[in-house]
Amino acid sequence: MKLAEIIEMDQKYYMNTFGARVPVCFDYGKGMYLWDIEGKRYCDFLAGIAVSVLGHSHPKLVDALKEQVGKFLHCSSLYYIRQQAELAKMLVSISCADRVFFSNSGAEANEGAIKLARLYFRKRGKPHKFEIITLDKSFHGRTLTTLAATGQEKYQDTYRPLTPGFKHVPGNNPDILESAVCENTCAIMLEPVQGEGGVNLMSPGYIRGVRDICNKHGILLILDEVQTGLGRTGSMFCYEHFGIEPDIFTLAKALGGGVPIGAICARGEAAEVFSPGDHGSTFGGNPLACTAAITVLKVMQEENLVDNSRKMGAYFMEKLAALQHKYSIISEVRGMGLMIGIQFKDEIAVKVKEECFKKGYLVGNVGPGIIRLLPPLIVTRDNIDDMTDVLDDVLSSIAK
Ligand SMILES: *Cc1c(COP(=O)(O)O)cnc(C)c1O
Repeated sequence: MKLAEIIEMDQKYYMNTFGARVPVCFDYGKGMYLWDIEGKRYCDFLAGIAVSVLGHSHPKLVDALKEQVGKFLHCSSLYYIRQQAELAKMLVSISCADRVFFSNSGAEANEGAIKLARLYFRKRGKPHKFEIITLDKSFHGRTLTTLAATGQEKYQDTYRPLTPGFKHVPGNNPDILESAVCENTCAIMLEPVQGEGGVNLMSPGYIRGVRDICNKHGILLILDEVQTGLGRTGSMFCYEHFGIEPDIFTLAKALGGGVPIGAICARGEAAEVFSPGDHGSTFGGNPLACTAAITVLKVMQEENLVDNSRKMGAYFMEKLAALQHKYSIISEVRGMGLMIGIQFKDEIAVKVKEECFKKGYLVGNVGPGIIRLLPPLIVTRDNIDDMTDVLDDVLSSIAK
């Protein structure tokens, strides 16, 4: 089938939530590369928005999934599931969590974390403590409740009334945050690096300050690590950079390496909140999804991908700093590990993205002014050199 036919079919039958997409349809992938249906190769510096951490078609992931597909796909959590228990044990062994629960997406993991935080206080005889404070420019998902948590009106306004019980405050300001805490507050929830909001870093002092505020007021700290989790920022979990532990954190994007799965991870008393009937999921933690996630974690360890993320992230930032020096239109390069944003002074991000695409490189943009880079964690120095050369070419032609 030709691209034009696919586009026509999509525009007629698929709900129009994306507008005009990037005009390409991929056929297969290998490592850092994707090939489209016409045989053109693209180097992937977006990884399906931080999902394909092992790159494409990693042989170990392919083999593990093939084997599981040949056995069975699904059986329901009414029964004990070996892969579910094994994956839970692995996550607990590498993190501060004591128990986990699996969902199918990031929004659903966050929704579960919000339920958990409310229930934590209800079970302690404090049902008035249901309010959660989140940050401006945050993104926590697209269900009605995670939209209410999201601090961006552009996502919210069309769907009011949203779930009540959320307050938004500016990031990196512990004083405003603390003044928003009241007797109804049950938790503070934030992304340690805001992804969809534009790759916005939270300072280490701020994150530690938030932990202190939660301790002082006896409320829970929920970190949304749906995008930052699992090596993306150069440590397995982003919270490790700050020397603090959240009470609850959520995972999704990278966890299944492309197979949909999310996780609510909880520590201490928060891990013991849910009891039979309090939460559930038909697909959550099914054998196929858990097999994918177990394999992702194993390969990340075998191939030292967290290390690679840290090293390649530092290398990439050096190269991009040199680019910034050369092009005054770049106002800032910011990031952690392999989660990087290039901020421009003008609204050229879409143009830059399109020009990179023409040259066979996939990058993302957040709004009109920011390019976002989220390569698979297997990315090499050579890939980064090539990507930087492409950006150099693109910026020099735009500057003319
Ligand atoms: C992508 C994302 C979500 C939503 O995940 P979905 O799987 O799309 O529901 C939530 N929080 C953060 C930080 C994200 O980056």
